[in-house]
Amino acid sequence: MTMPTVAAGSPAPEGATPMMAQFFDIKSHHPDALLFFRSGDFYELFFEDAVKAAQALGITLTRRGKHDGEDIPMCGVPFHAAENYLHTLIAKGFRVAICEQCETPEQAKKRGGKAVIRREVVRLVTPGTITEEALLDSGRHNYLACLAEAEGRLGLAWVDISTGDLLSREIGDARPGSGTASGLALALDRLDPGETLVPERLYRRDDLKPIWRGRGDRLTPEPDSRFDSANARRRLEGLYGVGTLDALGSFTRAEIAALGALVEYIDLTQKGRMPRLERPRREGADEAMVIDGATRRNLELVATLTGEKRGSLLDAIDRTVTAAGARLLADRLSAPLTRRAAIDARLDDVGWFKNNGDVRSGVRAVLKGAPDLARALARLSLGRGGPRDLASIRDGLGAGRAAASILTAADLPPALGENVRLLVGHDALIARLDGALAAELPLLARDGGMIAKGFDAALDEWRTIRDDSRRLIAGLQADYARETGIGSLKIRHNNVLGYYIEITQAHADKLLGAAGSKDARFIHRQTLASAARFTTVELSDLENRIRAAADKALALELEIFETLAGEVAASSAAIAALAHALASVDVASALAELAEGERYCRPEITDGLDFAVTGGRHPVVEQALLAAGETPFVPNDCDLSGDNRLWLLTGPNMAGKSTFLRQNALIAIMAQIGSFVPADRAVLGTVDRLFSRVGASDDLARGRSTFMVEMVETAAILNQAGGRALVILDEIGRGTATYDGLSIAWATLEHLHHRNRCRGLFATHYHELTALSARLERLSCRTMRVKEWQGDVIFLHEVAPGAADRSYGIHVARLAGLPEDVIARAEAVLARLEAGEKAGAAADLAGDLPLFRAGGTDRPGLASSAADAARSALGDRLRLIDPDRLTPRDALDLLYELRDLAAKDG
Ligand code: ATP
Repeated sequence: MTMPTVAAGSPAPEGATPMMAQFFDIKSHHPDALLFFRSGDFYELFFEDAVKAAQALGITLTRRGKHDGEDIPMCGVPFHAAENYLHTLIAKGFRVAICEQCETPEQAKKRGGKAVIRREVVRLVTPGTITEEALLDSGRHNYLACLAEAEGRLGLAWVDISTGDLLSREIGDARPGSGTASGLALALDRLDPGETLVPERLYRRDDLKPIWRGRGDRLTPEPDSRFDSANARRRLEGLYGVGTLDALGSFTRAEIAALGALVEYIDLTQKGRMPRLERPRREGADEAMVIDGATRRNLELVATLTGEKRGSLLDAIDRTVTAAGARLLADRLSAPLTRRAAIDARLDDVGWFKNNGDVRSGVRAVLKGAPDLARALARLSLGRGGPRDLASIRDGLGAGRAAASILTAADLPPALGENVRLLVGHDALIARLDGALAAELPLLARDGGMIAKGFDAALDEWRTIRDDSRRLIAGLQADYARETGIGSLKIRHNNVLGYYIEITQAHADKLLGAAGSKDARFIHRQTLASAARFTTVELSDLENRIRAAADKALALELEIFETLAGEVAASSAAIAALAHALASVDVASALAELAEGERYCRPEITDGLDFAVTGGRHPVVEQALLAAGETPFVPNDCDLSGDNRLWLLTGPNMAGKSTFLRQNALIAIMAQIGSFVPADRAVLGTVDRLFSRVGASDDLARGRSTFMVEMVETAAILNQAGGRALVILDEIGRGTATYDGLSIAWATLEHLHHRNRCRGLFATHYHELTALSARLERLSCRTMRVKEWQGDVIFLHEVAPGAADRSYGIHVARLAGLPEDVIARAEAVLARLEAGEKAGAAADLAGDLPLFRAGGTDRPGLASSAADAARSALGDRLRLIDPDRLTPRDALDLLYELRDLAAKDG
């Protein structure tokens, strides 16, 4: 196929057909979006759009007519299945402009013989503005965020269109080099917006480019003029009907600019249909625990390092039963609280549900059937709702009422009590929707059949006329069969002919003859190979009556639908509050279910710098061990309170150091989202900032090596961790040469101790570091206990005071299945290295040649001869034999192995 030479979006060239001219005109206003150009039952795409969409969707690229002498590439998607295709396109980073026909072909004809049907773009579908069930992850918020700059400061605003929650916060100084980039990265990492609007000026700034990288198709650069704070102020005052924005709270100019640009963008993409937006709320910079992107990833809060939800903390602790509850929990996990009173209020709710198991089960049973109120409400308020959304509102409100009827205890904690009060008060709307909606509902309002019988007298009347006429038609079939004597005569219906009489060809002549005569009753319509089709005046009249009645009935149904949607919209603020209250009840009862099922305890939150966990466990590893039927998780204490602020943890590989480090970070997070924690007891002073540097991960996508990533993350910690921070450092300095690494780890530990003065856990393989504990008074040494038994190492997974004296790395290598000769060789080398170290001759290890002996034949000059190497290998092998541990079969195998080694010895 010829590739397009015309870029979609260029002005309509001379000689274009009227429809193509219309396409060019509309496309020129939406050059960045794929234009879904409605044509009958299809959305059609042309030129470049068609090529891109066909490739992204895996559909056929065809051609339609010519333009400038060349074929016009075209592809199409059926209107009724458009959502699926939209889903794929949005997921692949496209934006789509939906262009509808706004008149019927008949109306167009009336305007003039050759007039093209009027079309206009009714909506721009972008990743941050979608509301359709099929396009969204039900368990995650989808934020549209917007960044703006004013008075040298940066502001960020964000909204979830499907719930209408609108927030803003200040990011800080906007000047390059003032920490803007890290503040911005933190905020975006936490929100993980589906789409972020960025002023072009900021988009081009070099210091911010690393932040944009990796968010490519979720960024929408916009002209700077859209971010003017004076315009934004006017727009917001208009939207909320307030004389001055101060009535909504105090916002910085940068925040106002961001909020205004956000609202304008919604207006622009929704073509004037504004969703319900809550009044903007300002989030204080210190309201949430600050967790940077690396820490979020390392701790696998909402997804594992490989990107799956399974295996993450969220997955392990999520017992919610509604989609809105799941979203709220994920949200809380992304932004743990920092204020003790707010955390305690949440813990009170969880505690109450934990103590009231029967009520909890009752509430959870009610919630299980509750639909996604918030998203149904958003669709209805955007004019995109269907009959099933009305049913969701009815059932959601009903679930609220049912939950409230169970939550009647006098001792409800204040936050829960407040939520319960929001769950009621909609009896009239529930009754109205219940009376109005049919039992079986169509997907789309225009399909009709959604209004129940008995709700509207006029509607019932039109439906009766329609149905009576249908019955009359059914009666006609019997009459005609009798009159013509053709028993097999049938009256059928299709979309082209409408109702028609059908007989087989064998009988065709009977009616064809009659049809030709003057007073013919049967009017011929169509002849097929095996059948002939006729109509009668009587049948046509009945059909017209049916059609007219059906049209009237549908029009009335749509009118009623709009009225009902309007009634819902009128209560939208209260319904949204109810939806949020239901989600909160879901989260509180789900966390109680978790606490009970997993034996978690209520953390005691303090304003001090305590961190005393008794019998702490790792929530994810504990569940995984249980599921795999392995030995139960070994609980461990961790006390960083008072003078033990820093713990230096040594121990063999595989002993559980990383697990211990992570579990304590996770306990801090869980406590501060208001959850019980996997421990027997936990006294925790709130953490304002959490840092973790765990494990090695390449960030090759951003062009940084493992060691570079490690150092960048460590730098961030040392530069930013304050007195209320919690720092988790695992194996710092491993990515480089031993002495470099040791020195870096050493200096890092000192810096944490003297300067950052924060609570922290530091795991290392460098046993040399334990010497530091003599000099650093707030550093204490802990080790993972192991037991050696008959040459085997048994990991006890117990954290005990003291330091480890070796790493047992070779032992782990054996467990991992490294070939026995490699293990043997490694042990021999280690023995020599250690001996060398003790003799103070470590500096010339390579000169001693042990590293290269066994495989040394390819290094002439390093091994004296192959026979030497073999002799040495034979000796090494013999020395490693532990006769007590050999089975008879092992002994036989060994004998063969030794003979082979000896053979090499000439
Ligand atoms: P490395 O130094 O090699 O990274 P490590 O000391 O950090 O090892 P982990 O990765 O934390 O060790 O733990 C190794 C395995 O031991 C875990 O996957 C887990 O299955 C098990 N484990 C860790 N801690 C415990 C515990 N407290 N109770 C039971 N099993 C545990």
